[in-house]
Amino acid sequence: MNWLTNFVRPKLQALVSKKEVPDNLWHKCPSCGAMIFHRDLEDNLHVCQHCGFHMRLDPMQRLKMTLDAGFQTIELPKPVVDPLKFRDQKRYTDRLKDAQSKTGRPDAIVVAHGRIDGRPAVVAAFDFTFMGGSMGMAVGEGLLAAAKLAVLQQAPLIVVPASGGARMQEGILSLMQMPRTIIAAEMVKEAGLPYLVILTDPTTGGVTASFAMLGDIHIAEPGAQIGFAGARVIESTIRETLPEGFQRSEYLLEHGMVDMVVHRREMKGMLSRLIDLLRSPGPGADVVRIPTEPSRPRPVPVKGR
Ligand SMILES: [Zn+2]
Repeated sequence: MNWLTNFVRPKLQALVSKKEVPDNLWHKCPSCGAMIFHRDLEDNLHVCQHCGFHMRLDPMQRLKMTLDAGFQTIELPKPVVDPLKFRDQKRYTDRLKDAQSKTGRPDAIVVAHGRIDGRPAVVAAFDFTFMGGSMGMAVGEGLLAAAKLAVLQQAPLIVVPASGGARMQEGILSLMQMPRTIIAAEMVKEAGLPYLVILTDPTTGGVTASFAMLGDIHIAEPGAQIGFAGARVIESTIRETLPEGFQRSEYLLEHGMVDMVVHRREMKGMLSRLIDLLRSPGPGADVVRIPTEPSRPRPVPVKGR
């Protein structure tokens, strides 16, 4: 080594070598095709500022924009991995490992507790990039854990599905998560706590057919696809052209399947208002008592004593 290699060469290399430009600085809007700078996209909560298209969100981004700073995620129970030893073109265990290394999380759901404008809440958010947000045993366990936590903390439960439905690699075990997640929703309701669902793009299949449609109030993000079977499957089954906007939030609002379509920017404020509304005792609350326990038969008074 001499001064030539130590000093001159790095300088020369710096002159000739191209500066590395990260390729994820610009995002293309899938709806209008506009190029959006990544910082603008983050500032705008991943909504296109040109056409209002709501892009899919990472669950941590979702939690950050839903809960106040200082929220905590919880560790979820780990169910048995691949008891069916399922294999299609690839082993299910390999698919899982790929998804885990890509997303850095054990499965397709993240559960956190914290506050929404100061109100305690538990939020469960799906990760669509983890095997299409499909609901397998881990997701079922996650939803049950979220419901138990909500009951324990006497806090409302907010679930944000983004899922293609049941995880087919888990067969019947994944379908069994449908009644299990319904039980989770019922636990929250029986405790007299609000259960809200934010339907995001896409909410389909077994997720729509279970916990996602049992909310006290269904809020949808604009333009989200929400349905059971996909539009193409329905079209090819009934051999008819489906109406425009079929299975989209706005169409479903018109037809009474969702209660409101809310822009992402207004979502947190709306959640606060809904929680206040659902938790307020309301007029006449002092005279009407809602039983929280199943009513027991009254003891029959014994005559002659
Ligand atoms: Zn756009």
